[in-house]
Amino acid sequence: MAPRSNALIDLHSHSTASDGRLTPGELVERAAERGVQVLALTDHDSIDGLASACVAGQAHDVAIVAGVEISVTWHKRTLHIVGLAFDPHNDVLGEGLTGLQDKRSARAAAIACRLEKLGLTNALPRAQTLADGGQIARPHFARLLVEDGLCKDMNQAFKRYLKPGKPAHVSIEWTQLSQAIGWIQHAGGLAVLAHPFGYGFTGAWRRRAVAAFAEAGGDGLEICTGTTDREQESVAQRLGIEHGLLASIGSDFHSPEQFWLELGRLRRPGALIEAIWTHPRFTSAHGTLPAMA
Ligand code: AMP
Ligand code: MN
Ligand code: MN
Ligand code: MN
Repeated sequence: MAPRSNALIDLHSHSTASDGRLTPGELVERAAERGVQVLALTDHDSIDGLASACVAGQAHDVAIVAGVEISVTWHKRTLHIVGLAFDPHNDVLGEGLTGLQDKRSARAAAIACRLEKLGLTNALPRAQTLADGGQIARPHFARLLVEDGLCKDMNQAFKRYLKPGKPAHVSIEWTQLSQAIGWIQHAGGLAVLAHPFGYGFTGAWRRRAVAAFAEAGGDGLEICTGTTDREQESVAQRLGIEHGLLASIGSDFHSPEQFWLELGRLRRPGALIEAIWTHPRFTSAHGTLPAMA
């Protein structure tokens, strides 16, 4: 592929392989329509959508980066670690993800059980139908709560039922921070702490999480997402620089219905921090990437 400067890059997105609403093919097509030239598909604890994303990437001239968003438990909280540009055939990563998928299934059954007691009928089979073979995530249950008129929208479903402390929340131990980073790096990829403003943390907890991630050997920090403002981006950038992390950017696109959050609508990191796509691992063996300087 010919080198391009200032390619439009989006390194965080979801498909029907987890809680996204578009198939990998539809997602890539939409990315192409929005002018995205480099896209990472980062489904929750799954890389099952990557192969068809790559096929669509060739058809639409979008460079697909192997990606995943791994669920981690850290101090009883959940963190999301995005893995990028790894070998998707790596066994260590594959076995790690299989373990998380088993936990996801067990958690889905437990959430469904609680929701049935709260008035949602056939919660598990209906969630399985919505997920259509992909990973079941809380948004599938949120959709059912809206569908049955128990909540007015997904946000209310999370607030009333699915968030920690709410009646259908089931807390489980995902994997450890160092383990998730290890799997990604073992597969030749780069580990990024996703959406540092997406955990409801205070500034102090956010700093602790970034420090722990860097201490555990993490590579990058998401500086810009589809919902960050300039102030948050400059805070994240300072944190990244302080801890020697590379900058990543990704919309975290899930669905065309979330019209406020679009593929590729992202600001580039400032000149003071190095971008993750300049890392040699990004452009080596596993990637099909154009030059992105
Ligand atoms: P899970 O990994 O199954 O616990 O589900 C987490 C996912 O739920 C996140 O990746 C988001 O896509 C989604 N989510 C979290 N909070 C909300 C919310 N308030 N409204 C809609 N979706 C949400
Ligand atoms: Mn999600
Ligand atoms: Mn996330
Ligand atoms: Mn995500």
